[in-house]
Amino acid sequence: MNAFPAFIDPSDRKIAILGGGNAALRKARLLIAAGARPTVVWAKVSHELRGELSGQAIILETDPSPADISDAELLFVALDERREAERWARIGKSAGALVNVVDRPDLCDFTTPSIVDRGRLTIAIGTGGAGPVFAKSLREKIEALVPARADALLAFADSYRDVVKATIIEADRRAFWERFFNGPIAASVLAGDEAGAHEAMIAAINTPQGAREGVVHIVGAGPGDPELLTLKALRHIQSADVILYDRLVSDEILALSRRDADRLYVGKAKANHAVPQEEIAEKLIALAHEGKTVVRLKGGDPFVFGRGGEELDALRAAGVAAFVTPGVTAAIGCAAETGLPLTHRDYAQAVTFVTGHAKGDSDPDLDWAALAALKNTLVVYMGVGKAGRIASQLTAHGRTGETPVAVIENGTRKDQLIVKGQLGDLETLIARSGVKGPAILVIGEVAALADGRGLVELAIQQANERSAA
Ligand code: SAH
Repeated sequence: MNAFPAFIDPSDRKIAILGGGNAALRKARLLIAAGARPTVVWAKVSHELRGELSGQAIILETDPSPADISDAELLFVALDERREAERWARIGKSAGALVNVVDRPDLCDFTTPSIVDRGRLTIAIGTGGAGPVFAKSLREKIEALVPARADALLAFADSYRDVVKATIIEADRRAFWERFFNGPIAASVLAGDEAGAHEAMIAAINTPQGAREGVVHIVGAGPGDPELLTLKALRHIQSADVILYDRLVSDEILALSRRDADRLYVGKAKANHAVPQEEIAEKLIALAHEGKTVVRLKGGDPFVFGRGGEELDALRAAGVAAFVTPGVTAAIGCAAETGLPLTHRDYAQAVTFVTGHAKGDSDPDLDWAALAALKNTLVVYMGVGKAGRIASQLTAHGRTGETPVAVIENGTRKDQLIVKGQLGDLETLIARSGVKGPAILVIGEVAALADGRGLVELAIQQANERSAA
């Protein structure tokens, strides 16, 4: 550290800005936002500056004299001309002001950091003037990690500060606030449920310390590419004590969790049920009762063929605080990755997601006549094993065998595979290309547009074979 960071209350201070252009306007804006009423002095002040700052700053449109800045505690020099900037920095310093010269760290008594501003929460990033661009890119990353309602959370906590001080003995107070900020009450405030949070807060203050409740977040991890996580999903993954995850959650996503978080695999492969559904729900409930922050991490979206609804029901029935964070579902992720528009003005006015999963050897129980309708894109999840049956049902109900199909395996992942062809050949396509899953089947005119990483062109080969036969 080569500078001392501190937050200054500028409201009752004399602050001067020399300059009349954009740089001066930017400094003035920030100061005003923090409660200051700065004095801007320069012979020529821009139209924008005058328009935006009038009423909030004192504007002296005149050649500055040393007397104008003689009692300033902070002086900002925002001038283009090097020599002028140096001269005024000297004058300010000798008058006793702390001086900041825009773009000249060598002349500065203090530099202004890059900031994340969320009301009460301010995060300042300084590089000692050496790398403002790096500070800015770091700021963007931090910006993404700070919950949108952080300020509401701090206001909420602030409103209880005195009550907590009066009711909870000092030895327990720190642990109380730790539980508050990492637990279900803060989660409720961040989710916008302030009424529920107030109720829980009053209960928490009146509960003997030590008896605490955890929270469960049911989180969608998307189809695999970690960049497709939502910001909220990332935040929950990074703050979880325990993560229960499925087979379809990629390793890169698990790697984002805290190093000391427990990770429990509860996934299923079709014939090999790792942990039955009831046991997963029981485990989630037990962990929450232990006071843990639990993330139930699921491939894609938790509410699309993900049994998220059943887990949510079980948690709510047990009185556990539970929240759901959506994820990019496989169809949406695969479509974007392969340039396949699920709806298209010319070819498809509807898109339907169905599951191809069925007990034993039976056909999936679906309304085939409706699904075979033209101008509908059909996306089948868990359909690889039943592809032949699905194709014959659709053709029996009126779709032609020439309807384009695309099979996308491991979509958005490194080992993505795209197989294209026609509905009549769907089963052979899958057999020949060795697709095992996870894969979706896309059936409809738009499937012909699928392209990109991992494309294998079996379709052409098959067409040739057909014409030779
Ligand atoms: N909740 C998940 C779906 C779970 S069902 C979601 O919203 O995506 C499991 C099925 O999802 C798989 O059989 C496969 O059809 C599909 N799937 C999941 N991830 C996939 C991926 N990366 N590529 C292709 N299909 C995928």
